[in-house]
Amino acid sequence: MTMPVEIRQRAEALIAAESTRFDELHPRSRQMAVEASAHFPGGVPLHWMLDWETPFPIFVREAKGSTVTDVDGHAYSDFCLGDTGAMFGHSPAPVAKAISEQAARGLTAMLPSNLTAQVGALLAARFGLPFWQVTATASDANRAVVRWARALTNRPKVLVFDGCYHGQVEDAFVKLDGGGTIMKPSLLGQVTDISATSIAAPFNDLEAVEKILAAGDVALILTEPALTNTAMVLPEPGFVEGLVASARRHGTLLCLDETHTISAGPGGFTREHDLSPDFFVLGKPIAGGLPAAVFGFTHKVENDMRRVLGTKTPGYSGIGTTLSGNMLALAAMRACLEEVMTPKNYGHMTALASRLADGMRAAVTRHNLPWTVTQLGARAELVFSERPLRNGAEAAAAIDHAVERAIHLFLLNRNLLVTPFHNMTLVAPTTTEADVESLVIRFDEALSALSGEGE
Ligand code: PMP
Repeated sequence: MTMPVEIRQRAEALIAAESTRFDELHPRSRQMAVEASAHFPGGVPLHWMLDWETPFPIFVREAKGSTVTDVDGHAYSDFCLGDTGAMFGHSPAPVAKAISEQAARGLTAMLPSNLTAQVGALLAARFGLPFWQVTATASDANRAVVRWARALTNRPKVLVFDGCYHGQVEDAFVKLDGGGTIMKPSLLGQVTDISATSIAAPFNDLEAVEKILAAGDVALILTEPALTNTAMVLPEPGFVEGLVASARRHGTLLCLDETHTISAGPGGFTREHDLSPDFFVLGKPIAGGLPAAVFGFTHKVENDMRRVLGTKTPGYSGIGTTLSGNMLALAAMRACLEEVMTPKNYGHMTALASRLADGMRAAVTRHNLPWTVTQLGARAELVFSERPLRNGAEAAAAIDHAVERAIHLFLLNRNLLVTPFHNMTLVAPTTTEADVESLVIRFDEALSALSGEGE
């Protein structure tokens, strides 16, 4: 969908005005960006922190619950929540307590801790898969799954969906181009052509998947249950169930990466829809914001893993990092699973996210804009399309960076943080009705500015 010219023009003007205002409101952050630039390029510890749509980064003094306070003293209602890492609020009290207690009793030993059996049982009961492994990040978990799937099936290829993102997993950096798969041109330093072993398929298209799997050389389908790393695309009814069935038929393993779709409910989309994947991945918020991730798998997969390991010389498997599954991560995970990711908290998050989505929809309707608001449990996102998106190509066509940036900056200057790039909002257990009300009002004002109301 192309954005109406007048809206794009107003967005550009709004970006200019809001950038000036941002500059005036953040003298301490500006100063810190200069100071930090002496040794961190751009003043940030990792380059993509510069991808926020601000003239320079906001420097955080404190983040607690749903409030982020910056070094200039602005207190933001946080709907970005570290792009899901802090989805259960910043420093949830049970997790902070578990971390501080464990910190005095050892952080890492390259050995299992007294909590290991308990965490395994919690994961199995929660997500329904009997076996688990712990990694440091969701990227690592996905990488491990890709490697295991190839080792177990003796097949070379991985199927992902056009528009997907699964972290630093090289195998997923492909997209559709003119009906064929190409490597994403953004990927840095890649020497071999990933499209030789990774295939991109259109989301919500079981027929296309079936055709690809029929060749018998696909080890793994790696997918989110919904595409959340582009303008959000929900699965059509039966699509994910169809994937599970199709993969089984063709001897392909299926991994559901629930790192973002854990917004759907306490057991993720998998449990909400009673799905039975071979692998399940969850990173980001699983330890309340401390780096940790898990991947779960079936009895059959575990059995095959043992068989494959039996044929290899021990060590150098290419899976795992030294700090994976450390004692601190397990302590934080136990607290998060038991005391934070509770059905009660999810009830609050989903109800408030629905209020937020309804409020945003009402604003869109009031301004007569051809846009939708897509919701998946605690996650809601503004999408520049009149009807729900079907796949990555439609999502790419719906993205408008200028309008997104204008809304983002407008909200940020009014003490509201939403996720940059795609105006995604997340609701935490600590989000209040007042937070939501304030976002709905300010969002309506942003749309008034973009619609030229009062011009
Ligand atoms: N899977 C999905 C679905 C993600 O959205 C992301 C990050 N946005 C990752 C995996 C990777 O997570 P991390 O960067 O924490 O490794």
